[in-house]
Amino acid sequence: MFNIVRLASGTSSSTREKVGFAAFGSGHQRGDDSRHKQGGREQEDDLHLEQEADVAIVGAGLSGCLAATVLGRAGYRVALIDRYAQYPPEFRVEKIGGDQVEWLRRLDLMDTIAASSTRVDQVINVSRGKVIDLTNTSHYGFLYQDLINVVRAQFPERVKLIVGKATNLHATSSRQQVELADGNTVNARLIIIATGMATGVVHKLGVVRKIVSEKHSITLGFDIAPAAGTTFNFQALTYYGETTSDCVDYLSLFPIGSYMRANLFTFRDSRDPWLRRVRAMPEVTLLDTLPGLRSFLGDFRVTSKVQNWTMDLYRLENYLCDGVVLIGDAFQTSCPAAGTGVSRLLAEVHQLCKVHVPRWLASPGMEAGKIAQFYADPVKQRSDRRAIRLSNYRRSLTMENSWTWDMHRRQAFLRRKIVGWVRNTYSGQLGFHRPAEWRSICR
Ligand SMILES: Cc1cc2nc3c(=O)[nH]c(=O)nc-3n(C[C@H](O)[C@H](O)[C@H](O)COP(=O)(O)OP(=O)(O)OC[C@H]3O[C@@H](n4cnc5c(N)ncnc54)[C@H](O)[C@@H]3O)c2cc1C
Repeated sequence: MFNIVRLASGTSSSTREKVGFAAFGSGHQRGDDSRHKQGGREQEDDLHLEQEADVAIVGAGLSGCLAATVLGRAGYRVALIDRYAQYPPEFRVEKIGGDQVEWLRRLDLMDTIAASSTRVDQVINVSRGKVIDLTNTSHYGFLYQDLINVVRAQFPERVKLIVGKATNLHATSSRQQVELADGNTVNARLIIIATGMATGVVHKLGVVRKIVSEKHSITLGFDIAPAAGTTFNFQALTYYGETTSDCVDYLSLFPIGSYMRANLFTFRDSRDPWLRRVRAMPEVTLLDTLPGLRSFLGDFRVTSKVQNWTMDLYRLENYLCDGVVLIGDAFQTSCPAAGTGVSRLLAEVHQLCKVHVPRWLASPGMEAGKIAQFYADPVKQRSDRRAIRLSNYRRSLTMENSWTWDMHRRQAFLRRKIVGWVRNTYSGQLGFHRPAEWRSICR
């Protein structure tokens, strides 16, 4: 039997609310189902429960939820611990595409993600006021909290969501324990830490967070609509910064349901008064910064609050220990403009849950030597390196004024233009769109 205690707003035991959970059933590999009351206390308010699972996952954001789903489907008993029963509105990734879709297919999770997203099959790419090419692959737009809550609603039977804050970890070479703020505990053979950028719980294990690039980039998010009586002439559009002085990498416009969402990826200084202006007068400030935008948007309104997020890039040190493995933003952040945060975590979920965890649980012990195999996994290492490389590349490509970076910029767009031109020349054969359609995009 798997009982649970949900914390109300805070972590004080006086605000606790009891919630019943279904049984886990017998373990997939091993692990006893014994429950112990700590200290033999009788009073309900002081009752501390001990849960048993094969794997305890701390953090039910994208990485934790996907890892739980993959392991639960494979038959493991998963205790997934999160502070919130419903993921609260948070500004995170809002569009996926490319290799992320491929990873989700390999994990057999794409249908779940697609069900809570809006698909577009064509993105128009614009640089310096001119269409450079079209991306004719599927992209999916969503609000992060909606996506996570849909994934949570579809957990396999063997995944149990425990609502509470993990405050301490006891890690050994065989059994692990997660301590919750309400005094309850979860025992498991392995702990996966997927707490996003809140890595406090692992610091007690000696894990250290090292900032690689402080305030590396600022991402803005808002809803946008055409002026009354008009429509936007595109499904989705990516508009690149016009000069290095605008500090804009790109503005991405894509639909979520019936409205158009905007993500603006910039490398402005966090003290720049421009940030205050864009929040106060978004339409005017956007057009001042990117004048060519007007030909593609016409008159438009920003219809929501402008959200913004300043991203620090960090990596961890001293993270290898018995029984505990870190994934997602808990292990490493990347620049949102690089669009690699989700690719990284998907590669990790795939390698960890499909390759390493089944092997680890098939034999006794969970010593650091086992955990090290995951950190040394070439697929994971490649995606970690790529995320760092692209984070730095996007910043330099946007901001650097040297002639070498000017060459990089010219080359990057020229290459895309040539590939686009070749595609269009053979559009009849290959099914790509014709330049005539591009012109209709401009107002
Ligand atoms: C503004 C912004 C835009 C982005 N855009 C993109 C993009 O376009 N493309 C892209 O690929 N990536 C993008 N990213 C990155 C992407 O959003 C993240 O990589 C991804 O969301 C990380 O997911 P996660 O599961 O690791 O962390 P999170 O989603 O943050 O989940 C962490 C979870 O842990 C829980 N938690 C934390 N501490 C505890 C605790 N002690 N006990 C219990 N629970 C706890 C939290 O409640 C939360 O549910 C963006 C990020 C930001 C901030």
